Amino acid sequence: MHKLAHLDHAHVWHPFTQMRDWLKREPIVITFGKGALLRDVHGKEYLDANSSIWTNLHGHQHPKINAAIARQLKKVSHSSALGFANEPASLLAAELVKTANPSSRRREEAETSVPPKSASSRRRLQKVFFSDDGSTALEVALKLAYEYTRRTRGSKSQPQFLSLDGAYHGDTVGAVSLGHIDLFHKAYGGMLFKTDKVMSPYCYRCPFNKAKPERADAREYRKCNWECIGKVEQNFSTQKKRGNPYAAFVFEPLMQGAAGMIPQPNGWLKQVTDIAREHGALLIADEVMTGFGRTGVAANVSSRLTPSQKHLPRSYERSHGGLFACHHERVQPDFLCLAKGLTGGYLPMAATLTTQSVFAAFLGEYHEFKTFFHGHSFTGNQLGARAALANLDLLQNQQSRAARAKLERTFAAELDALWALPYVGDIRRVGLIAGVELVRDWRTRRPFDLREHAGNRVCEAMARRGVLTRPIGNVIVLMPPYCTTPAQVRRMVSALHAAVTEVLCAD
Ligand code: PMP
Repeated sequence: MHKLAHLDHAHVWHPFTQMRDWLKREPIVITFGKGALLRDVHGKEYLDANSSIWTNLHGHQHPKINAAIARQLKKVSHSSALGFANEPASLLAAELVKTANPSSRRREEAETSVPPKSASSRRRLQKVFFSDDGSTALEVALKLAYEYTRRTRGSKSQPQFLSLDGAYHGDTVGAVSLGHIDLFHKAYGGMLFKTDKVMSPYCYRCPFNKAKPERADAREYRKCNWECIGKVEQNFSTQKKRGNPYAAFVFEPLMQGAAGMIPQPNGWLKQVTDIAREHGALLIADEVMTGFGRTGVAANVSSRLTPSQKHLPRSYERSHGGLFACHHERVQPDFLCLAKGLTGGYLPMAATLTTQSVFAAFLGEYHEFKTFFHGHSFTGNQLGARAALANLDLLQNQQSRAARAKLERTFAAELDALWALPYVGDIRRVGLIAGVELVRDWRTRRPFDLREHAGNRVCEAMARRGVLTRPIGNVIVLMPPYCTTPAQVRRMVSALHAAVTEVLCAD
């Protein structure tokens, strides 16, 4: 075993990992990365098929991001946001505000300290609170929404939150409270505050979907009456009758990640967020995974909308290429939580964007102590902000948009080959995110027992073939970096095909 692997075994405790299993074999120790490739300590090369846990966007060692960080290194790496501003964080906040809002809004609105009056301008995201990772981005949104609600509804009010079944929003205690994955969250129940959950639209296993399984994405052939939307309506109405309407609705737009890559059928997001708005709830969009173009380029936007939604303003996609999943259904949240891809996947940095109205609720004389008492040592880190600026620059250039659109077409076409496998029950793709659900029998949707480790074993067989990813139970995730070549996409998918054949057909 390599000496670094020994050190790892001796001292490192890995996240979401049964360490007894981990200690049974030599870990892959990554020492080098370039584009979509990673290399280990023995010189073996792998494709980074889940973009290093959904973080990397443009590939490893991108010359522009490398150069941006290197330039910043010669100035200063970090200075505190407690008491001081800095150049890259100020520029980044302005750039994020630009990409997170339709361009047609008047610029002066962004600069006034008076809360704007119209509903659409109230929803302009114009303040950025920086933090360190996805969990903290959610934690910030949660605390702000909680306190904003108390300040607007009265300090005796008890703000309640609604999130989706299967939700995962991070591992800090507030974010865990919003989560609804028993396996991860149940043990900590005693530490958490109560939040409600509502059915999420998992078409493949939806009890209301009367369609027999087909060799296609279940969203396409489902037979239902949008009962999932009825459930959302029901939750909001019941809570209103209790005399305490939900303070906020928390969701991942278009695709729920850790829930098992659960995509939403076209129009779901717009309809449920309209319901939430009608009931006076704030919208907290967790775009930690979906942000920064992961869910596809703007060209696909109009196909997501139902005919009655087509009149909605197109300014989001036109101006920024639909970098955020919410905008694909022309939904504007009150909180936009970003992390993972913010720095192109280089450095841990997160941002929570919110509105002037929320910001204004925390303004006051010093002695009123309306301050948002929250923050981290590395808030607004200069290296991270510089990497993020380079990332946004890359994302918005025409060439990179066209390349992403092309990659998406290749990805979709290659994934189709997997329907030939009887152990593939569902292939769920949104943009450049795909979840392939492995089942015992596609005709009955009978799942593998989690104790069979089907997902883990398939991923290990993929790693032997030089392709790295990590399963969510029995769902294999493919999420290529944007620089992945067609040949590399083909290798990712064919490694999955071969691994399923090797591991499951031999069972
Ligand atoms: N939200 C979503 C949607 C996520 O996918 C994740 C991480 N997988 C998080 C929040 C938490 O992010 P982090 O691991 O950076 O804390």
